[in-house]
Order: sequence, then structure tokens, then C-alpha cells
Amino acid sequence: MEYINEILSNLKKNNKYRGEFKKLQSPQKEKVVIDGREIILLGSNNYLGLCDHKEVKKASMEAIEKYGVGAGGSRLTTGSYTLHSMLEEKIKDIKGTQKALVFNTGYMANLGIIQALCNKDWVIFCDKYNHASILDGCLLSGAKFLRYRHCDMDDLSYKLENFKGKCNLIVTDGVFSMDGDIAPLDKIVEISKKHNAVIMVDDAHGFGVLGKDGAGTASYFGVNSEIHIHMGTLSKAAGSIGGYAASEEYFIEYFKNFSRSFIFSTALPPSSVAASIKALDIIKNEPLRRQRLLENSHRFKMELKNLGFKIPDTVTPIIPVIVGDEEKTLEFSRQLLYDRIYIPAIRPPTVPKGSSRLRISITAAHAWEDLEYVIERLKTTGRKLGLI
Ligand code: PMP
Repeated sequence: MEYINEILSNLKKNNKYRGEFKKLQSPQKEKVVIDGREIILLGSNNYLGLCDHKEVKKASMEAIEKYGVGAGGSRLTTGSYTLHSMLEEKIKDIKGTQKALVFNTGYMANLGIIQALCNKDWVIFCDKYNHASILDGCLLSGAKFLRYRHCDMDDLSYKLENFKGKCNLIVTDGVFSMDGDIAPLDKIVEISKKHNAVIMVDDAHGFGVLGKDGAGTASYFGVNSEIHIHMGTLSKAAGSIGGYAASEEYFIEYFKNFSRSFIFSTALPPSSVAASIKALDIIKNEPLRRQRLLENSHRFKMELKNLGFKIPDTVTPIIPVIVGDEEKTLEFSRQLLYDRIYIPAIRPPTVPKGSSRLRISITAAHAWEDLEYVIERLKTTGRKLGLI
């Protein structure tokens, strides 16, 4: 197995090695303790600050007291609680669909939905920047799949016109996780109608953040009812863990019967489900959190743009600062950590070669004074590294 060591040492040589984890010694919040030092965290998907919310934790602890720590079986055998159904009711209400089904993670939802729905009779049209779990779902399904250029509607139309199959699926992230931009769902809906294609949207980063009551990217575009399959996670804005599909009844019943990642895995523990139920109530009833999140993000982006950083025009809390070179990106992240700021360096294969970046994500819980300090350090370090 010498070749494995060779691959690992090549990764190290090329600054692509994923080595030691940064170990948190405190709750997942806007400030965390790492190696005994308090650090401002700007790389978390805890957009609304719900990971450590008092009421969410209380709901979770009460569920442990009442039901214990594990579900004990798959949903289809012995692991289904009333809590799971309550969560599915809440998701379907927010998404405005007939039904919802909860998976254990967003990753498993994407795998399960695409594997169940598609087979060799299908052609899948997939945005080039879609999340890895979508790609894995496409591979698992055995369908033919084509990747269209990122958010390029001409390329999507061209590919549909020329390579359409008996059944067709267009699948896209709502908010792209490494770029923070959003898919033009209004245009994708038009194209899908023309070609009679099914649309699936992975709204891992839009759910709880964009749209009416935090319903997500499709709601932001006013096309909620035109998306056939909504997929999302409960691990980001909702602060806990889990994934979902929300759709018409027949799709959901189909997934229940054919999604292998749903059928052959132990159900989510009651504590996580109870946490998500409480989190969804907060998402719906506390719009100020979302407003603060989007205001913080907008203000922060404007400041960085004024400093000369190349920041794409986006409406989301995900802010990529493109550096390009892998070693320089790592160095940027290391210097910021010295200044008590943690922003992860994202490198290939997560992003295309030559586009390594700091992926900043803002949360509603960040205080503006802390963000001002971060801007100041980004300026100083960015200048030192010749980026601005
Ligand atoms: N889709 C997207 C767009 C994501 O960013 C992620 C998580 N990074 C997932 C799916 C997987 O979700 P989870 O972390 O809940 O497995």
C-alpha cells in the first residue's frame, strides 16, 4: 500500500493535505475557544446562531429525558417517533408542499432522492458548482448526467435541446456553498417547462436565510410552487442535524419506498428532531434574526469591496475572498488565526484549481464591533500578502 503514502505526501507537497482538525473547546457560536484561545469564528453555517440557542437546547434536553438518546432503528421499522412526523409537518408548512420526509443529513437526502428518482432512463442536468452530495447521488443513480456551466442558462438550454432523454431532471443548489451566489430559479423554471423536466433544488444554504419566513431561494424568486423537489438541511440555519425532501405526496411516498439512505439507516435521535422543531418555530417567528444576518452580511461585503477585495455581488451571508494560490490562501488563514480570527482556507478539490479562497460566513449573532476588527485585520493581512 506504498502508493497511499505517496499520494498523502504529494497532497502535502501541493498544500492540499487535510491534516489536523481545529478542535473547538466551547459551544458552536460566533466566538469559540480553540487551543485555549478565544477566536472569532467566521466559517460556520450556524447562520442564525441557533446551534447554542437556549430554547433549542431546552427542547433537545427534554426530548432526551422523555425518549432517551437513540432512535434504535430505521424509520420503517422501530425508529419512528411522533416527533419525526411533527418535524415533517413543520417543514411541509414552511415549504408550502403536500408532504416532507426527513433524512439523517443533507448529504443522505441528496443521495437518497436522486438515487431513488433516477435510473438509466433519466438524463440529469447538473450545475457545475453543485454540492458533492448531488454528484454522488447522480453517480449512484446510474443515470446519464451532464454538467452545465455554472448558472449559465444558455448552456443549460443547449444541453437540454441536444441531450434530452425519456425523463429529465434539472438539479441545482439554491445558494452555492462556496461562492454564495444564487441559482436563477425563475429562468430555470421557464427552461424546465419548455422541456418538461423535473426541477430539484438543494437549498442547504438558502433555507432559514432567504425568502418569506426563511422558506428559501425558491420563495425569494417567487417560484416555490414550481419546484418539484425541494431538498434542504437542518444543519445550517436550523442549527442541528438532518436533511429533508419536500414535495408532492407521490414523490415523498416514492422516496420512502426507494431511497436507500432513508431505508437502511437508523433514524435521527429524538433530541436532534426536537431541536429542529424548536429551531423552525424560531426561524418563522423571529424574522429580525434573518434581517440582522442579511444586514451584517451586506455591510461587511461593502467594506471589503471598498478596500479593494474581489467580492462577488451576492445577497447571502457567504462571502468568498478569492486568493487563487493554495499556499497563499493557507498563509492568509494562518495569519488571521494568529489574530484570533478563524476563516477556513478552501482549496481544490472543493473549489476549482486556481480559485482557492477564504470562505467567510457571517451569522446573525456576530457583533458589528467584532466584524469591524475582522475587516481591519483582513485589510492589514491582505495588503501584506499583496492581495489589495
Ligand atoms: N448541500 C449543500 C449545498 C451543502 O453545502 C451541504 C453541506 N455542506 C450539503 C448539501 C450536505 O448537508 P449536511 O451537512 O446536512 O449533510
